Amino acid sequence: MSDYPETQLYIGGIWRDGSRERLSIVNPASDEIIGTVANAGRDDLDEALATAATGFEAWSRFSAVERAKLLHKAAQLLRDRVERIATIMTLEQGKPLAESKSETLAAADIIDWFAEEARRAYGRVIPSRSLNVRQLVVKEPVGPVAAFSPWNFPLNQAVRKVAAGLAAGCSVILKGPEETPASCAELVRAFADADLPTGALNLVFGIPADISNHLIPHPIIRKVSFTGSTSVGKQLAALAGAHMKRVTMELGGHAPAIVFDDADLDLAVRILAGAKFRNAGQVCVAPTRFLIQEKIYARFLDRFVKAAEAITVGNGLDSETTMGPLANGRRVEAMETLVSDAVARGGKVATGGERIGNHGNFYKPTVLTDVPLSARILNEEPFGPVAVMSPFSTYEAAITEANRLSYGLAAYAYTTSGKTSAALSRDIQSGMISINHHGLALPELPFGGIKESGYGSEGGSEAMDNFFNIKLVTEAI
Ligand code: NAD
Repeated sequence: MSDYPETQLYIGGIWRDGSRERLSIVNPASDEIIGTVANAGRDDLDEALATAATGFEAWSRFSAVERAKLLHKAAQLLRDRVERIATIMTLEQGKPLAESKSETLAAADIIDWFAEEARRAYGRVIPSRSLNVRQLVVKEPVGPVAAFSPWNFPLNQAVRKVAAGLAAGCSVILKGPEETPASCAELVRAFADADLPTGALNLVFGIPADISNHLIPHPIIRKVSFTGSTSVGKQLAALAGAHMKRVTMELGGHAPAIVFDDADLDLAVRILAGAKFRNAGQVCVAPTRFLIQEKIYARFLDRFVKAAEAITVGNGLDSETTMGPLANGRRVEAMETLVSDAVARGGKVATGGERIGNHGNFYKPTVLTDVPLSARILNEEPFGPVAVMSPFSTYEAAITEANRLSYGLAAYAYTTSGKTSAALSRDIQSGMISINHHGLALPELPFGGIKESGYGSEGGSEAMDNFFNIKLVTEAI
């Protein structure tokens, strides 16, 4: 596959192979092996750690203005390379080319935003109890960071960690996604080509548990940032805790989407269906539990099913495709298991409910109804193109169901009542709630969950703060 590059590690400013056997990359639209990725052993990781330590010494001494300039340069390189990067992303991850392009351009925007934020990382002067004492609060970069990013957004999950960390003056060892490595490597290449100092950013791939077990406890690493499932996040948070490392965890979600009788139905269907099936539902903030008030339930369901059936599933490189394959075979198996469990418990398939063909990981956009709360899909993050519709009667019933799970990442609501929307924003237990539009994940907005969806933010000035130590300087003058 000529458009698809072989992916190397990037350690100490050099693109190179790892000491272990390379891993194969499969195109999820065709099941073909399209390339390989380098596989880091312990020796490679030790080199990455050593260069991250010296890289931190160098990079943390760059002024905020110099760091910002270099980050802006990397952002521009991503924009210049958008066509090539998007093609690579679609080949390895499956999403439609238009989504790959917008992900690449969004990554550039995120870098620009953190570049600007670097220049505004103000400390504080605290009025003292004595005229002869000066009290300052200073923000200092926390140190070398171990960052772990997943395959669903090969650029955008990585760029939030890399751009915020670098903007703060940290060095970063990024463990990229082994199944979608080449587009993530293009993000690192943009920084490398923008002349980041040696060791400030390093990229490794390999066996995830081997890498996290080696990097997280290592004394050089001062901060851990992970995006992925809650179960893995708990293991890594425990490991980080044992070694007293700062942690940001962006984990799974099971977002309620509550549509009230008074909602603008067309708006709700259009936006929620778009958000549900984007990236084939493999989005941590995708709406997954649809709670529709009784009076409009039948109409909402009818229109949502039509929207699902209007989706063109196919190879992401085809211009008419609006939903690509699932990114790996595990997700198809998960959809089959979750749907058959729901049906066995009395659930009904309103549309979809099965894979498409025998090649590639294609699965029909699916809507389920009459699913009991005991079904697995109403308790486990689906992470795929399946929407579950349930009617509700009262505001209280909707809130009880929305808050029932241990997840608390995103929530959505549609209502034209100001009173209801104010009450929702108070009562919903989630890190983010978007009402009457889909307004999440902009660079300047906090992005993160509560409860078992994790802690720490991956957006806004809060994201930068995760990469700073606070130092108090108190001085008698
Ligand atoms: P998984 O839980 O094994 O892996 C999820 C991610 O964590 C992958 O990127 C993987 O490389 C990484 N990972 C796994 N074990 C690790 C370890 N010990 N150390 C470091 N990194 C490790 O499962 P999966 O099949 O890849 O994905 C399935 C589930 O993961 C989904 O159902 C979803 O809940 C979750 N997920 C969430 C996000 C997100 O954006 N929050 C992204 C991808 C996957």
